[in-house]
Amino acid sequence: MAAPMTEPPCRLCHANLPKKQRRTIFSETFGVLNQLVEVIDEVPQRNDGHGNYVCGLCWNKLNRLSKIEHDLKTKLEALKEERLSLLKTLREKHGAQPFISLTPKSKKHYILHSPTPRKVKKSLTLTPQRGHQDSAEATIEKQKIKREKVSIQLFSPGKVKVLYRGHMSKLKSKVIPCGDFQNIVRSIIKGQSNKKIGEVIYQSQLREAIQNCVLEEMKRDISCLISTNKPSYLRKTQSDNLATFNFETFNLELQLNAPLLYKTLSSFYAQGTPHTYKYVIAVTAAIILKQRNMHMSAFHQVVSQILDNGGATDECINLLNKLGLCVSASAAAKKKSDLISRQKSHMEQMVLAEKKTS
Ligand SMILES: [Zn+2]
Repeated sequence: MAAPMTEPPCRLCHANLPKKQRRTIFSETFGVLNQLVEVIDEVPQRNDGHGNYVCGLCWNKLNRLSKIEHDLKTKLEALKEERLSLLKTLREKHGAQPFISLTPKSKKHYILHSPTPRKVKKSLTLTPQRGHQDSAEATIEKQKIKREKVSIQLFSPGKVKVLYRGHMSKLKSKVIPCGDFQNIVRSIIKGQSNKKIGEVIYQSQLREAIQNCVLEEMKRDISCLISTNKPSYLRKTQSDNLATFNFETFNLELQLNAPLLYKTLSSFYAQGTPHTYKYVIAVTAAIILKQRNMHMSAFHQVVSQILDNGGATDECINLLNKLGLCVSASAAAKKKSDLISRQKSHMEQMVLAEKKTS
């Protein structure tokens, strides 16, 4: 007990220090305070009773740690680039096949170039044992934290590993195989914009799956419009509705019940003036929907009536019907008689009302 009182111990290894071997922690020339803080997991204070020195050996090791950290920062990008270009060359040779099982070997090769992981592991895993002198529970906690830290720091450059909380909050880790998925994780980690991340994901092997998702949503949009639960405006083919058909109502229905379909169609026609392109979207949708379900025919009925009134022949109407642009001549004729009788009763009511008032 007498020795530490007279000869201050090294803050790291607790060895007694002759004057020559002392390195003062708080001096300007010490230069590795950050590394020391990381190892002892606290910021040293002048009068905290743990001494103000480290020994020459520990100081050298801290300097080595600092050098490795510097190298990691500066060489990582170069190594990443070299790795990617190597990967690219090798893949091209292999014919664009992913080679997950080969990845670890190429990684180990890089570790040989840099002694970082082993050094870091030694100094960090040893530290908690020294801490035992303080309090048992606190050290166990510290050990846990240290171990998690170690597994992150051991990480070789160029590798993508995800740490996450699994069942019972257990820390789990998973190496992402090189290739598309690594690029996606990198893109997210780098904090790139959603647009950029989306592009990276879309350009990956997920492209077809994403396209299928969009198509599925579009199908759901169309099913929603066709559904009889909430009948579409296009299903309302009674003479009253046909006589008062307007595109605004159907356009609104599209925007509410089939937003993706509406957005897609809009992207085709955005060049036109807003006023007319709204009609064009509604017409395109009406033609698509009638193809999916023959009862979605209000727009087609209206077109046939216009053709008939304009003097188009049955042959002409039937031809346009085949092209999917209107209903058949016979269907139009049937609807025409409905419309006439509606008009008749409408006029009779008007006359009756006139008689009453006079
Ligand atoms: Zn020491």
